[in-house]
Amino acid sequence: MLLNVQEVWKSYVSGADEAEVLRGVTFTLEAGHSLALMGESGSGKSTLLHLIAGLDVPSSGSIEVKGCVMSHPRDTERAALRRSLVGVIFQQFNLIPSLTVAANIRFQAQLAGRFDEKWCAELTERIGLKEHLGKYPESLSGGQQQRVAIARALAAKPALVLADEPTGNLDEATAQNVLDLLLSITRETETALLMVTHSSKHAEALGQQMTLRNGQIA
Ligand code: ADP
Ligand code: MG
Repeated sequence: MLLNVQEVWKSYVSGADEAEVLRGVTFTLEAGHSLALMGESGSGKSTLLHLIAGLDVPSSGSIEVKGCVMSHPRDTERAALRRSLVGVIFQQFNLIPSLTVAANIRFQAQLAGRFDEKWCAELTERIGLKEHLGKYPESLSGGQQQRVAIARALAAKPALVLADEPTGNLDEATAQNVLDLLLSITRETETALLMVTHSSKHAEALGQQMTLRNGQIA
C-alpha cells in the first residue's frame, strides 16, 4: 500500500481552548489509485492533507507514504520525504511570482535532486505549457496557472499527489478541463491522487470517495 493513515488525531490549541479537528482518521490508498476527499467546510480536509504532506504533525497516530514516516517529529526529515515522495497542489496555485513558468516547474525538483530535463520537457508539452515557459505567473489565466502547478507537482515524479480543492478558484468549464488533465496525467504516470473537492460530480470521476465528518471518515 502506498499511503497508510492510522488513527490520526489532530487538535489545535490556542490559549485555554483546544479544538479537536481529526479524531482517529484511518484509511489507506494503493499505488496509482485515486481518492476524493469530501466534507463540509471546516471538517478538517485541509488539515488532513497538510499532515499527509508532512507540513504539520498529528497529535497522535501515524502516516506513512511508501513505508516512510511522514508524521516524523523532525521538520527536516518530513521536508526531505515530502520533496521526494509527494507533490502538492493548492486552490490558490501558490506559484512563485518572481520565477518564470519553466523555473516554477523545475525549482522543487531541482531542490530535491530529482530534476530530469527530458521528463520536464515531456510534461510541459503534455500539459500544454510549451509556449508559456518564459512567461511569469501573473500574465497567465487561473487555469493556466493551475496547469503550471500540476506540472510542478509532477516534476519530481512523486508517488502521491495531494490536491486541495485544485479547481475551487476556476470557472466551471476551466475547472473541468484542469480536472480532466490532472486525472489523465496521474493515470498515465501511475501516480496516486488524493483530491479534496466540494463537487460530487468531480469526486465521482475518481476511483474512490470518502467523507470527513465529526473528525472521522464517515
Ligand atoms: P476544511 O479544509 O475541511 O475546510 P480545515 O482543515 O481548514 O477544514 O479546518 C478544520 C478546523 O480546524 C477549522 O475549524 C479551522 O478553523 C481549524 N484550523 C485549521 N488550521 C488551524 C490552525 N493552524 N490553527 C488553529 N485552528 C485551525
Ligand atoms: Mg480546506
